[in-house]
Amino acid sequence: MSGDRYRVYSKYLKDKYGCKVYKLPVNLPGTCPNRDGVLGAGGCIYCGEEGAGFESLSALVPVREQVERNMEYISNRYNARKFIAYFQNFSNTYMSPGKLKKYIREACIPGVVGINISTRPDCISNRHLEAVKEVELEKEVDIVFEMGLQTVNYHSLIKVNRGHTLAEFIDGVLQTRAAGFEVCAHLIPDLPWDDRLDVVESAKILSALKVEQVKLHSLYVVRGTVMEDMYLKGKLKLLTMEEYVERVILFLEYLDPSIVLQRLIGRAPEENTVTANWDTSWWKIKEKIEEEMEIRDTRQGKKFDYLGGKAVKNFLSDGYHR
Ligand code: SF4
Repeated sequence: MSGDRYRVYSKYLKDKYGCKVYKLPVNLPGTCPNRDGVLGAGGCIYCGEEGAGFESLSALVPVREQVERNMEYISNRYNARKFIAYFQNFSNTYMSPGKLKKYIREACIPGVVGINISTRPDCISNRHLEAVKEVELEKEVDIVFEMGLQTVNYHSLIKVNRGHTLAEFIDGVLQTRAAGFEVCAHLIPDLPWDDRLDVVESAKILSALKVEQVKLHSLYVVRGTVMEDMYLKGKLKLLTMEEYVERVILFLEYLDPSIVLQRLIGRAPEENTVTANWDTSWWKIKEKIEEEMEIRDTRQGKKFDYLGGKAVKNFLSDGYHR
C-alpha cells in the first residue's frame, strides 16, 4: 500500500503496465436474464433502462468503433497509451460463448492491454470461460470478470430482486478463478436493509474467496425504477453520507490487504437520478473516507486476522514442538 491506507487501483495498474491505464466503456448489444423474463422481468429494483452503464456509446455502434472513438478521445485529452476495454452495461456474458469471443476480438486493438467483462454470477459457465481463455491467450490481453454481488445478505438480495443469492456468487467466483481469471466484486455497502454486520461479513467472504479486486458504490435512485417508486412513496430511507463513510472504512478494515480497490464510491449519472451520492461529487466523498482513515490511523486489513485457523494460532508459534 506504500503510504496509501488502502490498495489503490490506478497505482496497481501503473505498477503492472508501467504507465497510467484508462478504462474505455463499451456497450455490447445485450440484455440481462433478470430483465428479459428468463429469471425475472423487472430487474434489480435500482436498475435503469441503461443497465449499469451511462457513459458509453450506443450499442448500435460496432464494438471496434466504440473502442477506437473512446480511445481517440481519451488519448487526445490525457496523452494516454494503454487501455482496458470495459464491457459495462447489463450482463455481458449473457450470450453464446462464440458471440462473446467475437466481441472480445473486436475490442482487442493496439493499445488495449485488458478487457473487463461485467456480468452476473449466474451468467458464467465453463464453456464461456473456456472460450474467453482461448481469446485471452490468442490476443495476449488480461481479462478480468467484474461480478455483481452488492451484498452477502441473501435476504437483502431478495429485497433488491437480484434474482440470485450468495450461493450463485460463490459458484461464479470459484469457477472463474479456477479457469485462471481475476475477479472484481461489486458491492453496495449502504443498502438500507443491511446493517454493519453485513458489511463486515461481505469483507470477510470476499477475502475468503480471494477475489482480486473490489468496486464499491453507493445506492442511488434512478428515474423509472422500482426504487424510485419506493422512494417517492416514503418506503425507502436512504442512509446518510456519514454512514456510508463509516461502512466503507469498516469494510476496508476487514478486507484482505492484498485486494485492490477499484473504487470507494461510484460516479453517479447526473441525469435520470432522483438522488445520488448526496449531491456531492464522488471525489469529495472519496477524500472524506481517506481523511477519516488518516484521523483514525486505520487501514485496509487492520482487522484481517480471521482466516487460516484463527483459533489454533497459539499452537503454531516457534516454541511449540508437539
Ligand atoms: S443484474 Fe445488472 S443489468 Fe441485470 S437487472 Fe440487475 S443491475 Fe440491471
